[in-house]
Amino acid sequence: MFIEKSCEIHLARRPEGLPDRDCFKLVNQPVAELKEGEVLVKNLWMSVDPYMRGRMIDRKSYVPPFSINAPLEGGAIGEVVESRNPSLPEGTKVSSMMGWREFFISEGQDLQPLPKTSVDDQAYLGILGMPGMTAWAGLMQIAELKKGDRVFVSAASGAVGSTVCQIAKLKGCYVAGSVGTDEKARYLQEVLKVDAVVNYKTDSDLQSAIAKACPEGIDVYFENVGGKHLEAVLNIMNDHGRIAVCGMIDQYNATSPIPGPANLSQLIVKKLKMQGFIVSDHWEHYPDFVQQMSQWIQEGKVSWKETVFEGIEQAPDAFLGLFSGVNTGKMLVKLS
Ligand code: NDP
Repeated sequence: MFIEKSCEIHLARRPEGLPDRDCFKLVNQPVAELKEGEVLVKNLWMSVDPYMRGRMIDRKSYVPPFSINAPLEGGAIGEVVESRNPSLPEGTKVSSMMGWREFFISEGQDLQPLPKTSVDDQAYLGILGMPGMTAWAGLMQIAELKKGDRVFVSAASGAVGSTVCQIAKLKGCYVAGSVGTDEKARYLQEVLKVDAVVNYKTDSDLQSAIAKACPEGIDVYFENVGGKHLEAVLNIMNDHGRIAVCGMIDQYNATSPIPGPANLSQLIVKKLKMQGFIVSDHWEHYPDFVQQMSQWIQEGKVSWKETVFEGIEQAPDAFLGLFSGVNTGKMLVKLS
């Protein structure tokens, strides 16, 4: 297959606050001829994730920052369309971290062939991929979820949050969550069978609304948002509760330092455990997670939603939509 050019999205400048479209640049790159051992991959799907905002800042973190005038990176599902590598024949579907571009050349070490299952390929960017694994690791490894726990999750209708809700229900827990629209609230209650939902944008007193949704308090808080959510939940946690700190999307675009919750002493009074985590540190549990999640999928016990933008040029809008709640379930870009 002869491919002359591949479109990719570069980081044009580092954002201050919420990024705008000028932070991104669409670049046409020539595609080189394959050398022995290489494959040409055509991306079919790419993921946009809130953590990418952190990588746009030039600072030391658990992953290096994105470079200016270089392609962004992220999870992608592609297909080998030309191969000079016998272990990756044409037609092989692969997952990689080479998103934000239409085509790329690889020697194969950075590619994971997808298992042959009846599940749609893009599920490996969502429920069966990093976000699903994040929900699992946060609940099972960090929060040490037990049957009967009263669980509260923020950003509950997103990729991670909607999986948290379902795993916790399957484990026999009471589950409540917060979302930003009534439509998302209905999705949680009617489809995911969550016990109670708070709309944090319309419930004027967040703490009272969460307390009402969790009449017996909270044993496990799955934290995706931070800020006022954390402060409100700390006051409602039960003794010996566990807080898995997964994300704090409320502050990813902050332009000045965020004050900490005024009531952190609740950690002492209630003997709480609060622990942050990064999913990649827990990847040794991925096979257990996939086995369990695949079984639940086969049994029809879990479901998922996707919000799909089409075309590489839409990828920045898909990414920015994460911060205004455009998505229900996994935010994806379909490239082909
Ligand atoms: P989501 O699919 O949940 O998308 C983001 C959602 O967050 C939006 O749809 C929106 O929903 C909500 N949101 C956006 N801004 C705010 C805000 N200011 N206050 C409250 N809610 C907001 O994303 P993911 O599932 O991919 O990620 C969820 C969280 O998990 C993020 O914080 C992310 O950084 C974190 N994460 C952490 C990982 C780790 O290893 N620790 C790995 C993966 C994700 P709504 O309409 O309800 O506001």
